[in-house]
Amino acid sequence: MKKIYFDNAATTATHPEVVEAMLPYFLDIYGNPGSIHSTGQEARAAMEEARIEVKNLINCPEKDEIIFTAGGTESDNLAIIGGSLANSKKGKHLVTSSIEHPAVLETCKYLEKEHGFEVTYLPVDEEGRVSPLEFADSLREDTVLASIMLANNEIGTIQPIKEMAGLAGERGVIFHTDAVQAVGSIQVDVQELGVDLLSLSGHKFNGPKGVGALYLRRGVRIRPHIHGGGQEKRRRSGTHNTPGIIGLGAACRLARENLLQKAMKMVYLRDMLIEGIESSIDEAFLNGSRTNRLPGNVNFCFPYIEGESLLLHLDLKGIAASSGSACASDSLEPSHVLLAIGLPAATAHGSLRLSLGIDNTEEEVQYLLKVLPAIVQKLRAMSPLFSVKG
Ligand code: PLP
Repeated sequence: MKKIYFDNAATTATHPEVVEAMLPYFLDIYGNPGSIHSTGQEARAAMEEARIEVKNLINCPEKDEIIFTAGGTESDNLAIIGGSLANSKKGKHLVTSSIEHPAVLETCKYLEKEHGFEVTYLPVDEEGRVSPLEFADSLREDTVLASIMLANNEIGTIQPIKEMAGLAGERGVIFHTDAVQAVGSIQVDVQELGVDLLSLSGHKFNGPKGVGALYLRRGVRIRPHIHGGGQEKRRRSGTHNTPGIIGLGAACRLARENLLQKAMKMVYLRDMLIEGIESSIDEAFLNGSRTNRLPGNVNFCFPYIEGESLLLHLDLKGIAASSGSACASDSLEPSHVLLAIGLPAATAHGSLRLSLGIDNTEEEVQYLLKVLPAIVQKLRAMSPLFSVKG
């Protein structure tokens, strides 16, 4: 059976051109970029080229403003812990939203618990948007840093980041955005957004896993939290993951070259899925925004059924999808994002996320639309909640 992959928000296939770009850095040019000999220096030169690719993708002015990390989680940790601790003379208050990825939420909780910070978790509206007015009201004299994600990983909602970054800037508050789901999917321009810190991760846009970057605007201070040999201008120690970094650079180049084309294809397939599901399944409702939405994100709730059963039935038909976030999908807790947009826990349990990638086709979408209604019908027929209602 041919496998259909609709879980690109969890991770993507590494692009063959990315793999090809990486291979020499395992096999031939394996020198340490910190070494003086030519094998090391060749690796360093390629790494600096990759830095330029990252910089170009997000329109960052200087390549030294890009710090390589081991992915989105580390970038979020470095931004939030590093930014908060380096500037805690100003105060110990942070602002974030209630729908952030655990890489942000757990980091904020760590700062509350271990460093005495106070955190405001802003609510969101039914589409998953933070209100800039509420954001402005939450900023205090002692607010050091705010972290609001650019696009949500579960429901695809895109936040008014430029507005909030502007408000933070006026109050001297450092502004971080987790752009892990946005980079490579929509245009992301750090100058246009006016952010101080931005996290991205290679494996979300056809790069390798375990490598990412943090944009750190010149002049903004962070305290490093990995100590050692002083790599990355003392901001992130550890021998560079050269093949990974080269792969990240190649993925950034491909993303920049194909962004518009990819987004147009994703929007076409996404809307076909949304319309198809809405017209064929009773009481199915779309989570998130119809307008401020990532091109490749579809998230539905199907009342009376469990998302996990849905995933297993889809898997039997060769379709990989997710319910709640990938990172939380081994837990049976309802998604904190769906609860935050106001869904009751029972409804939040019946969610399905279909996230599209560059390899998905119209035929795959049509196949899903053919099999999904029957699966939902079958599960509802077995559901005590459905029979009570019926
Ligand atoms: N932030 C968001 C919004 C994500 O979706 C993810 C991954 O799912 C992360 C952070 C963590 O990124 P990584 O898997 O590269 O650590």
